[in-house]
Amino acid sequence: MRLKSKRAKKVESSTFRLPLGSKLKLDVMNSKHERTFLDGRVRVMVGDITKQDVDAIVNAANSSLLGGGGVDGAIHRAGGPEILEACREIRRTRFPEGLPTGEAVITTAGKMPALYVIHTVGPIYGEHRGQEAELLANCYHNSLTLAVEKNLTSIAFPAISTGVYGYPLEEAAVVSSKTIENFLSTDRQLKEVRLVFFQPRDVEAFLDHQKFSE
Ligand code: ADP
Repeated sequence: MRLKSKRAKKVESSTFRLPLGSKLKLDVMNSKHERTFLDGRVRVMVGDITKQDVDAIVNAANSSLLGGGGVDGAIHRAGGPEILEACREIRRTRFPEGLPTGEAVITTAGKMPALYVIHTVGPIYGEHRGQEAELLANCYHNSLTLAVEKNLTSIAFPAISTGVYGYPLEEAAVVSSKTIENFLSTDRQLKEVRLVFFQPRDVEAFLDHQKFSE
């Protein structure tokens, strides 16, 4: 009787293993450094934006569109000279004065796994007389709009403006999460919006301050 109950326990625990295993997987997906929101349409992770296998990656560009440091430098290095060529053409034909803050344009992704790069210019924190949040929201909104106009279904963002442009990650998290959720609430086309952070501590800051509803 005792043996039987022990065995019963063992069977119970081994049949419990599978769901336990899948829960573990879910915990990894929803860990400190990787998590999904909005039924999986938003995925937050640590990584290198240049390596993302999505339709479009977003570049935290500067208004010259002619390259820079940080994400911008990494994208041009990884994608090759085709991207700079396309940016020069956009400057020549559409934005001779440079791309205004908050706007977005699209080019090839050259040699990177993504098909396109969407270049957007983030606000420099403290230099737009209180309009920083609105301008940062424009970056996300206009990049998403461009992706949908191009019939794309997946897009990856770096944390725009939070590097050299000095936007505090915690504040940027509020703006980006609200803007993305707002956009996805009326869009049915985008299947995945990936938010890619270079450093684990940046993901933690984002997860602590984001405003996704689910
Ligand atoms: P900005 O000028 O808009 O502030 P930066 O390129 O300086 O843009 O930085 C934006 C954010 O991107 C920073 O948080 C930085 O740590 C991060 N970052 C830098 N390189 C990469 C990369 N290869 N992939 C993803 N994120 C990156």
